[in-house]
Amino acid sequence: MRNAPLLITYADRFAGDLRGIAQMLTGPLAGAFGGVHILPFYERIDGADAGFDPEDHTRVDARIGTWDDVADISQTHEVMADLIINHVSSDSEAFRDWLANGAASPYDGMFCTYEGVFDEGATNDELCAVYRPRPGMPFTKFFDHHGRQILLWTTFTSAQIDIDVESAQGAAYLDRVVDALANGGVTLVRLDAVGYAIKRRGTSCFMIPETYEFIADFADRCRARGMEVLVEIHGYYQSQIEVASRVDLVYDFGLPPLVLDAFFTGDTTVLRTWIDIRPTNCMTVLDTHDGIGVIDVATDVTDRAQPGLLSDERVAGLVDGISQRSGGTSGLATGAAAANLDIYQVNCAYYDALGRDDQQYLMARLLQFLLPGVPQVYYVGLLAGTNDIDLLAATGVGRDINRRYYDPHSLSEALAHPVVRRLVGLLRWRASTTIFDGTFTHLDAPPGRVALRWEAHGQVLDAELDVAAATFRMIDVDGTVIDDFAHFDDWS
Ligand code: BGC
Repeated sequence: MRNAPLLITYADRFAGDLRGIAQMLTGPLAGAFGGVHILPFYERIDGADAGFDPEDHTRVDARIGTWDDVADISQTHEVMADLIINHVSSDSEAFRDWLANGAASPYDGMFCTYEGVFDEGATNDELCAVYRPRPGMPFTKFFDHHGRQILLWTTFTSAQIDIDVESAQGAAYLDRVVDALANGGVTLVRLDAVGYAIKRRGTSCFMIPETYEFIADFADRCRARGMEVLVEIHGYYQSQIEVASRVDLVYDFGLPPLVLDAFFTGDTTVLRTWIDIRPTNCMTVLDTHDGIGVIDVATDVTDRAQPGLLSDERVAGLVDGISQRSGGTSGLATGAAAANLDIYQVNCAYYDALGRDDQQYLMARLLQFLLPGVPQVYYVGLLAGTNDIDLLAATGVGRDINRRYYDPHSLSEALAHPVVRRLVGLLRWRASTTIFDGTFTHLDAPPGRVALRWEAHGQVLDAELDVAAATFRMIDVDGTVIDDFAHFDDWS
């Protein structure tokens, strides 16, 4: 994979459809991105979980384009796509067929039943040990073809039926999906929510040893089809480090909350600790289509004796700080205040989380782009989008606060915004600077600051960010001193 920024976007909410995305990437955003993560574009994009509940994972939703459109994008940009391992829609043909025909269905065995895991019933402790991102039990009742009520595993919404990925039928289904993506020009797959895929009685059913084995095998299947693999897991920071040591690529989900914490407190100590221990085989993000992960920096929810990177008080300060800076709007979208699949995330546009402060926002992006890893920028963040209270009110879905729909008018207005033009300039600078494949050093720095160095081919890039004062000074590879984001206007 190229070490150049990736855009994260929905197929329909940014530039209308897949062709719109292609036009943006090769037009107004030319040179800014080396690739694009197109969020689920399968049939259908507007189900119970914004496409993460595919009815047919092998088909492109006709409303946003075709596989040819995906292949066209892949001619100029790397395409990353979600491989939704853990579940399918309850409206999928496979699930409906199995419910109607039971053992006579070709899909018999593909779904995860309660009895399949707890064949002799489960004890209190076994059920309480199961870790899921939302409160309550991960089961939903359905009627089978005999009219008998059965419990199925539904880790996310009750419209997302967990697949038994170890069954022959589950494996065959996933193989068909791998083929469809590889044939469509996808070169990087994001294994969505894979940490929940393997279930064993008496365990947390989350990232257990068998899950690692499954990921390793599945990643081999993807690699054999020419695709690299990114593993998407939110969790306690030590587990993230452990996961990263065993897979190709992970997200750095610790970064978004720690950058906010540093700006809110003026104290860079925790951020700097993380820079020293964080995995570097990662994608860096500040924002995605999900919320800002608190679990990634907090006390281990499965064992409260394990402290987080941030103390409980500091986590509370982080959540309050986001709420204050966003004028209270993050609180409307987070936790029990709205429909939420993940109670451990704060839903808020990153630009709002920083109080729409352009200087702090661009500094946060600069820091993201300077750290080891391939940077990804979410379309709302790219456009310095703010919280969409109307969409939240219309759908009641917490994460919709940061999943704005742009039309051609609002898109071109956003692109003309000075902070967006500078961010696009910064992205072009990051995409064309090759030193980020070299050697990285985290330097000593006075309190409130972060200092970083890159070296390669006899060249050096030095940067010091004074987070407390919201100023920075960077000496570029050609010796140019940059201490004002206006510098990047020339790149826009
Ligand atoms: C995705 C979420 C989705 C969940 C279930 C996550 O990892 O990022 O948006 O709700 O998986 O598919």
